[in-house]
Amino acid sequence: MIPIKSEEDLKMLKKSGKILSKIMHRLKKFIRVGVSTLEIDRLAEKLMKEENVISAFKGYNGFPANICTSVNEEVVHGIPAQKMLKDGDIISLDAGINYKGYISDVAITLPVGRIDPKSQKLIEVTRNALSQGIKQARINNHLSDISYAIQTYVESQGFSVVRQFVGHGIGYALHEDPQIPNFGQPHQGEVLKKGMVLAIEPMVNMGTRECEILDNGWTAVTKDGSPSAHFEHTVAIREDGPEILTN
Ligand code: MG
Repeated sequence: MIPIKSEEDLKMLKKSGKILSKIMHRLKKFIRVGVSTLEIDRLAEKLMKEENVISAFKGYNGFPANICTSVNEEVVHGIPAQKMLKDGDIISLDAGINYKGYISDVAITLPVGRIDPKSQKLIEVTRNALSQGIKQARINNHLSDISYAIQTYVESQGFSVVRQFVGHGIGYALHEDPQIPNFGQPHQGEVLKKGMVLAIEPMVNMGTRECEILDNGWTAVTKDGSPSAHFEHTVAIREDGPEILTN
């Protein structure tokens, strides 16, 4: 069952999303050569404290940090560590917060210093793929219209879509029904209804779509070591179309 949020709940989720975007904006400005992913996590912790919200990730199935920091070939669930960012890296920041019981989730991929043109294109294509997916998040569309839009766009640009990880419903919990794959045929699955809230999150690889999990039990990396990018928004389905709550 996909939960339907009331107007009152949507208002609270919008507040949650707004706080999260503000935190993400501050983290974004902190990214530079020589900063460690652990320092980014510490800043996230401080900002969440200042905003009186709690990380929706920390402790989730035992996840050890406040946010996920995934560098280069790390796809998702990178664990912050004393590892310094280098010129030419790309880093995905993924953060979720709980504001008075209302959960929002957002991710962006950023360049560190000067990156090569192909990595730049990977970031742009992944950001655009998210926009393509969000455009389909409207009443009476099917869930897989989102998936199809993302996959066809990404593959037309010569990159591959990760299949082992998917988007998800969100709001009262970090992961609710439905699962939202970033690939598939159109017009399948649930019909989208007003008041559904979805975390849409394409993960795009430069090389093979295949991933594997590191020994820490969390971090997904590309099987061929090629870079990967990730963008995510929490989106509400409204009468007049999709509303991005984490903008
Ligand atoms: Mg998510």
